[in-house]
Amino acid sequence: VSPVARGLEVFVLARPVFQDEAALAFLRAEQETWREDETASDAERLVELAGRVCYMSFGARQSARSNREYIGNLISQGHESVLEHAAWTFVITGVSRTFTHQLVRHRAGFSFSQLSQQYHDERAATAVRPGLIAGDAELTQLWERHVAESIEAYRRLVDELEERDELAEQHSPKERMRAIRSAARSLLPGSVETKIVVTANARALRHFLTSRGSLTGDEEMRRVSVALLRELQKDAPALFQDFAIEIASDREALVKRLS
Ligand SMILES: Cc1cc2nc3c(=O)[nH]c(=O)nc-3n(C[C@H](O)[C@H](O)[C@H](O)COP(=O)(O)OP(=O)(O)OC[C@H]3O[C@@H](n4cnc5c(N)ncnc54)[C@H](O)[C@@H]3O)c2cc1C
Repeated sequence: VSPVARGLEVFVLARPVFQDEAALAFLRAEQETWREDETASDAERLVELAGRVCYMSFGARQSARSNREYIGNLISQGHESVLEHAAWTFVITGVSRTFTHQLVRHRAGFSFSQLSQQYHDERAATAVRPGLIAGDAELTQLWERHVAESIEAYRRLVDELEERDELAEQHSPKERMRAIRSAARSLLPGSVETKIVVTANARALRHFLTSRGSLTGDEEMRRVSVALLRELQKDAPALFQDFAIEIASDREALVKRLS
């Protein structure tokens, strides 16, 4: 059985929904009017409204800027806290544990829920194969053999530890399982496939894309950054107007910050 995982997939579980009724009620209560940019998305309108509240720039105090120009100005002025109001939730699959270890280092504006290697049986684990070795039959074989052996060793450790009576005497059934899988998971390679739910706001995502999206030597970071930006630019192009997806000299896509 090939231990190679399915490819990367990014599913958008939640995206900003702007509540028109609430915005209208607020404006009525303040006796203000807002000339809305009809082309703006929910996320973009949410950020614009938040920015306008800072200066109450409604009615006669509203300039002729489009939503995109308004948000572009927030970004260029460094007033990015306003962008924190728009948040997305993704579930990312087909990524390695090594990748998610790097991902979860992002603290500000990110929340994570990841597949547990203590509660989840990894006997059927698969692994994320580096694209770098894709065209090399010998290295691919070496990689697949090593991963398959690691997973086989994991299975043996679980099977043998499950036979030990003393573990059942020392632990509750739940803690026995945790102890066995904790010991066995030490054999799993960093390439083992995982799934992670990520909630992040636009400011945090912009920071992530800036620092991670164009590292040409970091294949998974690049791929995830590109996949995230594709979704984000569909939902809120104005919030990510200074990012582009480009093809690098290795013919793979990356995320480039334009300003
Ligand atoms: C090229 C590269 C190489 C790396 N190499 C290593 C490595 O060898 N070893 C390693 O351990 N990590 C490494 N990292 C991870 C890096 O150190 C960060 O942990 C990770 O990129 C998250 O970045 P961040 O702290 O800016 O992001 P976040 O945690 O999302 O924070 C966002 C921003 O909020 C502010 N902030 C957040 N927390 C604090 C705080 N406590 N105090 C003050 N300001 C704060 C900062 O301005 C920060 O940039 C590397 C990252 C990159 C991009």
